[in-house]
Parts: sequence; structure tokens; C-alpha cells
Amino acid sequence: MTQEYTRAYWENLLAGLKPKGRHFIDGAHRPSASGATFMRARPMDGRPGAELARGDSGDVDAAVAAARAAFESGIWRKKEPLEKKKIMLKWADLIRQHGEELAMLETLDVGKPIMASLNVDVRLAAEGIQYYGELIDKLYDEIAPTGPNARALVRKVPLGVVGAITPWNYPLIIDAWKLGPAIAAGNSVVLKPAEQSSLSAIKLAELAIEAGLPAGVFNVVTGYGEEAGKPLALHMDVDMIAFTGSTEVGKLIMGYAAQSNVKRVALELGGKSPLVVFEDADLDAAASAAAWGCFYNSGETCHASTRLIVQRSVQEALIEKIQAVTRREITLGHPLDPSAQIGALIEENHMKKVLSMITAGEKEGGRRVFGAERVMDETGGLYVSPGVFVDVTNDMKLARQEIFGPVLAAIPFETEGEALRIANDTVYGLAGAVFTRDMDRAHRFSEAIHAGTVWINTYDMSTFATPFGGFKQSGFGRDRSVHAIDKYCDYKTIWQQFGSASFLKSKSI
Ligand code: NAD
Repeated sequence: MTQEYTRAYWENLLAGLKPKGRHFIDGAHRPSASGATFMRARPMDGRPGAELARGDSGDVDAAVAAARAAFESGIWRKKEPLEKKKIMLKWADLIRQHGEELAMLETLDVGKPIMASLNVDVRLAAEGIQYYGELIDKLYDEIAPTGPNARALVRKVPLGVVGAITPWNYPLIIDAWKLGPAIAAGNSVVLKPAEQSSLSAIKLAELAIEAGLPAGVFNVVTGYGEEAGKPLALHMDVDMIAFTGSTEVGKLIMGYAAQSNVKRVALELGGKSPLVVFEDADLDAAASAAAWGCFYNSGETCHASTRLIVQRSVQEALIEKIQAVTRREITLGHPLDPSAQIGALIEENHMKKVLSMITAGEKEGGRRVFGAERVMDETGGLYVSPGVFVDVTNDMKLARQEIFGPVLAAIPFETEGEALRIANDTVYGLAGAVFTRDMDRAHRFSEAIHAGTVWINTYDMSTFATPFGGFKQSGFGRDRSVHAIDKYCDYKTIWQQFGSASFLKSKSI
């Protein structure tokens, strides 16, 4: 029998929940060496959230030492591929089995609707671990072309200890994007989740041990960016940092890598993605994509379609349709209400920033058509209604800076050339979309937008088979797909000579 999800069901589950807020190091929950803890208010109602270990360099050192020991022992990387695959598949199954609890931890931390946490975030985290588990016994190394008297193996080998630093907007999904390929490739990982969203990461680590992942292969250190993230990124025994977060902190991470051991860095950063609508487009499809693309997860999405670049002749009709879709489908509500499609923003300071961007938009000449205001404040939670601005130009703050709230800025254009210039006039290059019935134009335009992903007549469609990441200041390196494995490996050449060789003749430098 399938469970019927009601608000009361989730309230009950929450009442019985005892989240563990400690680090997870070498296979066990641990308090901070310093004994320090921290707490934050729950986005859904402002009440106190879970108590968490406040990690610092001492805890990072312990986690990195455990990760290094596990790597050097070979207990994971040298295991039979089939055995490793079984463990990762079991881990994925356990994530599904503990789906309700994981969803509740996510909603408690970040205020997103419980049904989205369950049906999107938990599902995709399990799929991510499963996808990379299944790859383990399907990837081959290479043999390079050589003369008959030599054999050169080109091996893809794990890097060693990977530090993963992740944001709060999709904690489970982004953690899985890093953990799946890094661990499948044979590395050990120390994960520093965002201080706003540690609970699901700790549970993931607990489930990994239950699935059979050896202790030390996956560790979690909770705490603030400056106190726990920075020492991880500066650590001399960490071989790589896989980072998802803001462009501002991504730049710091590159600096830390340079200041320490030239560790590898992969960066998934911010975005200000254009969704371009031509007058010949299916306006219903475009309206639905624009509304969901911008407002889903309360706009707290790196690739949110925050810039609606629309041909002037259809702007009014399109905005009316976006308003209708938003009213009809994108219900803002308490995160434990199963009918809520979007919930609370992450924290008070962030909400203030979103509201100040809205005020700045009005001051700069943007016109608010609907929404974009604080609502449900009587709950003590942090809610801003989805809203649209028109009369925006691409030099306004609304069009240039990440708002990370449910605010769509419509920028009109007359010609295809103008649309492309506006779309590419941004420091970011994470994603974009074009809506038109003219397929020649669709392909021309999608090739010309500088972004890691471009959708034609849709938005936000993807699977694990498609790489995800940015151009320009949206970062480099790709999450998802088979290619993500490459990020966590390096090539090693093993040359074997048969018989005698003329050293000088074959020397190649
Ligand atoms: P953030 O950059 O503030 O924090 C991200 C992580 O970095 C957190 O774990 C934080 O504790 C840590 N951190 C902060 N300062 C640090 C420092 N000095 N040294 C080391 N670590 C530090 O980002 P956020 O507010 O958590 O997340 C929102 C941002 O993430 C947005 O810019 C969004 O676009 C981006 N994002 C990008 C993607 C993507 O795939 N490109 C996905 C999700 C979010």
C-alpha cells in the first residue's frame, strides 16, 4: 500500500525525528575536538533547528587523516569492481529506504517543500549514487599506439583524498553529484556541507557505512566556510577540491589551492541564465518553462532562468500567461503541506538580500507586475512570493546579479542579434534556453549562447547522462555523466619495453 502523505503525517515524523548533528569521521559520529557547536533557526517557522558540531582545522585534520589512511590501505580502491558496485547500489537502495527521513532532514534544514525533497532531491541523490555504482565495472583503461616492441598502458587512477564543499540549495543532490563519481573512481572524500544544510550529509555517511563502504572513505565535517571549508581547501594532504557555491567563494578556493599544494579544483558556481522567447514560439510552453524555471525551489537554483529575454511583440501576452501558470501551479505554502510547490527561503539575511534586490529593481525603473513580496510572516518563516518585473534593462541589478529568490526579470528585444547580445552579456555561463518554432534559428541560437547547457523549447530537463556545469565565471569541470569520473582521476602511463630499444631514436621530448 502506498503511503498517503498528509500534513499531519509529516508533522508526526518531524516530532519523532532526532537528527544527529555531529561530524562523521572514520566511520563514526564525532563531536568537534573543541567541543564547539552551533545552531540556526528553521526556515519554515523560525524555531531553533538542530545542534551541529562546529568544525575547525583540528576536525578537518582528523577527517583528512582518516581519508588518507583509507586510500593508502587500498581497502576501497583495490576492491573487486563488482564488489564496489554492489556496495554503491546498496547505498542507493538505503537512500531510497530512508527517503522520508532524508527528505525531512532536508526540509528541516532548508525549508523546501517536503514532497519536493522526497520526490526530487532524495530520488536524484539515490539515482546519482546508483549511476556511478553501475559504471564501476564498465569503464576501461587504454593502450596507446606504440611500436611492436613496447606496450604503453594509459591508466586512469584516483587522485587520493578529495575535499568536497557544497552549498545549501540542493544539498542531497549536489553531494551525490560529487560523492558518486569521486568514490566510484576509488578516492576517499571529506565533505564539508554548507553550514545551513548538514543533516542530510551526515545521514548519507551513516547509510554508506551500513551499505559496506569502508570507514574513512567518506567523512563529513560540519561547520562554517571560513572555519572548516577554508582549512580543507588549504590542506596539504588533500588532492582536489570539488566545490559548488558562489563565484565569490569559488575564486577564494582557487587561491587556496595555489597557496597550498596546487591541488586540483573543480568549480560549479553561480548563474544568471537567459530564457529567450521569440514571437513565433509556443507561448504556453514558454510561459510554463519561464515560471517553473525561475520559481522552482523559490528561485534558489544556480541555473534558474532569471532573465526572460522576450520579443517585444509578445511580451504582454507572455507575462499574462506566466502569471496564470504561477497562480495555478506554483503554490507557495508551508513546507510540510503536501500541496506546497515552493516553500521558505534559507535564512533571514538571505531573505533581506532578496527583498533589497526587489527594492533596488523598483528604484532602477523596473515595474513589478505581480508578487515578489514577503508573505506568511505570521508563521515566523521566511517566505517571498514568486513575482515578475518588466521594463528591465540588462544593466540593472535585477539582470546582472544572482538574486537567488523567486524574481523574474523580463527584458524586451526587437531582433535576433539584440537577443543574443543581451543573452551573452553576463559574467556567467551556466545555462540558457531558446523558444522558437524556427528550428534553424533554434540551432543557430543554441550554438551561440555561451553556456554549459542550452535547452530548446524546454527548460531544466536533464538526466545523469548529461554533463552539467558552466562556462565563464560559472566555473569549470562538469558534474554528472561518465565525464564526471575524469575529474576525480588522473592519467598514468606505464610503458613496458620488450627486447632492446634504441634510447635516442625513441626518445620523444
Ligand atoms: P557559498 O559560496 O556561500 O557557500 C558554498 C560552500 O562554501 C558552503 O559549504 C560554505 O560553507 C563554503 N564556504 C564559504 N566560504 C568559504 C571559504 N572561505 N572557504 C571554504 N569554503 C567556504 O554558496 P551558497 O550560498 O551555499 O550557495 C549558493 C551559491 O551556490 C549560488 O551562487 C549558486 O549559484 C551556487 N550554486 C551553483 C551550482 C552549480 O552547479 N553551478 C549549484 C548550486 C548552487
